[in-house]
Amino acid sequence: MYQLLGISEKVVELVNRCEKDCEEQFRQIDEACEYNSLKVLASFHKNKVSEACFNSTTGYGYNDLGRETIENIFKDVLGAEDALVRSQFISGSHALTVCFFALLRPGDTLLSICGKPYDTLDEVIGIKENKSSLKSFGVHYDQIDLVEDDFDYETIKEYIRNHKVKVVEIQRSKGYSTRKSLSLDKVGKVIKCIKEIDNNVIVMVDNCYCEFVSSGEPISVGADVIVGSLIKNLGGGIAPNGAYIAGRHDLIELCAERLTLPGEGREVGPTLGINKQLLQGIYFAPGVVASSLKTAILTSRVLEVLGYEVEPTYKETRADIVQNIIFKDPNKLLEFTRGIQEGSAIDSNAVVEAWDMPGYTDKVVMASGSFTQGSSIELSCDGPMRAPYIAYMQGSLTYPYGKLGLMKAIEKIIEK
Ligand SMILES: *Cc1c(COP(=O)(O)O)cnc(C)c1O
Repeated sequence: MYQLLGISEKVVELVNRCEKDCEEQFRQIDEACEYNSLKVLASFHKNKVSEACFNSTTGYGYNDLGRETIENIFKDVLGAEDALVRSQFISGSHALTVCFFALLRPGDTLLSICGKPYDTLDEVIGIKENKSSLKSFGVHYDQIDLVEDDFDYETIKEYIRNHKVKVVEIQRSKGYSTRKSLSLDKVGKVIKCIKEIDNNVIVMVDNCYCEFVSSGEPISVGADVIVGSLIKNLGGGIAPNGAYIAGRHDLIELCAERLTLPGEGREVGPTLGINKQLLQGIYFAPGVVASSLKTAILTSRVLEVLGYEVEPTYKETRADIVQNIIFKDPNKLLEFTRGIQEGSAIDSNAVVEAWDMPGYTDKVVMASGSFTQGSSIELSCDGPMRAPYIAYMQGSLTYPYGKLGLMKAIEKIIEK
């Protein structure tokens, strides 16, 4: 049967052997999956999800029962006071942008404490010149880099003591950097430090790729507001687009007024038929995140056995669904990415090339043979074409599809 996909016996044997090494990790993932499923199901019951929630609005989108129910579910599942879950957010980056513009005013300071934020935010913040950036509105930006993959606690404390900071941004997932992703423990510890000095600082967490990876979410360790994309973890591979912002009620109100307009806020925003998909998405999300994690762990083990540097290793506790393979070779990165594309469900015949992407500085390779355009909760792999040529692989709607995609990718790098 494997021959149907062009996978050799050698690769099948290797991957199956590595899979056995991952049993203990897989068991822990199943446990987290059950816990998160329980959270979701309990919230469906509490919010009395019914068939009527599948109906949706058009036009202004007043009185949308499904939308309100979905927002209540996200609120519960993320442990927040309030949540905004909208398809009018065109991406995670857009939701992060709305959040920044909602919370910051001219003269305010935004402080990133994980070094430079996600690439697409360069022009939003004004790190790269843009006439519509926060900087152009007179919002100051500063950053403190991580030290050995942890927060620089002393420098952060010093900064908060000596400057009036409005918003602190924490990005848990590594983005296109070489650092490790940040555990909830570390995030909780740094928030405590910040709040002890100035309780008015708003702590905002970019939670992309981290939802449902463990049993906790950043609100439970003191974050004021968290942001994520629905074409990642919480969309479960079913949400067609959108993003969420969850957290303190007063902050969510500000975000709603920025997303739509002051005075109408969250009361408007038609759902145009997607309510059922968003509900199904969050319902499937714990299982899809578990499949993604298993795919990532197996990938880590296989590539490690083949002699590549990987981050995290298969035994490490994970904070997100992203697996790095440090290829140190542009061709290997390209071929591996091509293999993932060949192993995907959609556009498997497309040949990946490195290309300029809006919002990104270097050329980027991307394998995304997904049902939803750009969805990275589906099996996908990308990376900027710069040394040390790291592949950022993530997602898979089911574990068997992830494993098969991995086999195709291994075939490509072994061939060469
Ligand atoms: C994916 C991601 C985003 C947002 O990306 P979009 O493609 O705009 O949805 C932001 N931050 C991190 C860490 C991400 O992984």
